[in-house]
Amino acid sequence: MEPRDLSAHVAYQAGRGIEEVARELGFDPDDLVKLASNENPFGPSPAAVDAIRNGAGNASSYPKASHTDLTARLAERWNVEPAQIWLANGGDGALDYLSRAMLEPGDEVLVPTPGFAYYGMSARYHHGEVSEYSLSKDDGFELTADAVLSAYDNERIVYLTSPHNPSGGMFSLDAVETIADETDERTLVVVDEAYGEYADAPSAIELLDDRDDVAVLRTFSKAFGLAGVRLGYAVVPDDWADAYARVNTPFAASELACRGGLAALTDDEHVEKSVETARWAREYIYENLDAPTWESHGNFVLAEVGNASEVTEAVQERGVILRDCTSFGLPECVRITCGTEDETKRAVRELNEVLSS
Ligand SMILES: *Cc1c(COP(=O)(O)O)cnc(C)c1O
Repeated sequence: MEPRDLSAHVAYQAGRGIEEVARELGFDPDDLVKLASNENPFGPSPAAVDAIRNGAGNASSYPKASHTDLTARLAERWNVEPAQIWLANGGDGALDYLSRAMLEPGDEVLVPTPGFAYYGMSARYHHGEVSEYSLSKDDGFELTADAVLSAYDNERIVYLTSPHNPSGGMFSLDAVETIADETDERTLVVVDEAYGEYADAPSAIELLDDRDDVAVLRTFSKAFGLAGVRLGYAVVPDDWADAYARVNTPFAASELACRGGLAALTDDEHVEKSVETARWAREYIYENLDAPTWESHGNFVLAEVGNASEVTEAVQERGVILRDCTSFGLPECVRITCGTEDETKRAVRELNEVLSS
């Protein structure tokens, strides 16, 4: 007995966890700073914590009302119909629903390299194939319509990450429209706005008013601090929004996730603090890190440090966990998540000491 041929599949490499590193290096977990997975340094919104705690007693029921309520709330927020909101188990779950809805076996998706690994993983799970467009470090990972269209070959889905992980750059809405205009009418352009709250720019969701070939991904994992409950969604065009009913896993987001999400949406103060602190941290890193960086619109900064795996390991021995970008195809770069002021200052200090030695 064997599974199907999975030789083209690769496992997702997550940033390293505090517990894992603490055990390996004999640290007290409280002495470690984890800036490796773009998590929110302030944790979840306190309102979400209360809602999840209060909702625990309902964990025996399937999520019905909470799922409907969260969908309605998000539809209101984005000025779309409720059917256009595809709730899922994290943004990653929403990517799976888009794959299920779009891909026939053998269909291709076009993804950025370096870039987020899950686009290709999800396509392969759904018997699709993956081609890549390159973002070049020499051009500052510039995100232009040309960079995408010069590699485009009639793929069924084109993925744009904006702000981009790991570089932090952004596509303009004009570039997104150009890409959607120039690609085949069967090509869906997916704009991944996992870091959208941190960017001082409009969401591509506004393009859905007059197009049926753009979808947008959003998540509660980053600015809302709910990575652990797994809650995200796609916003899709009205024309084919009803496909959700035919592709989703029943009760796509859990009762506790929906309750937490609903509460988090009411807590503007928490999101504002998270976004303001990330802005401060980006500037602090550009100005104080003794290594080249790229301008970021997310809650992280990419830095060129030489041998990233050696540097990551040395910094980790000093209690700071960063993301080695070797698995992104950037063996000379690390990605530093924006922490609290103290965490960010400590990360820069330790990294500078490692770089100077
Ligand atoms: C974090 C992230 C996501 C979504 O993550 P979930 O936790 O599954 O919501 C999607 N795209 C990018 C580029 C990300 O960094």
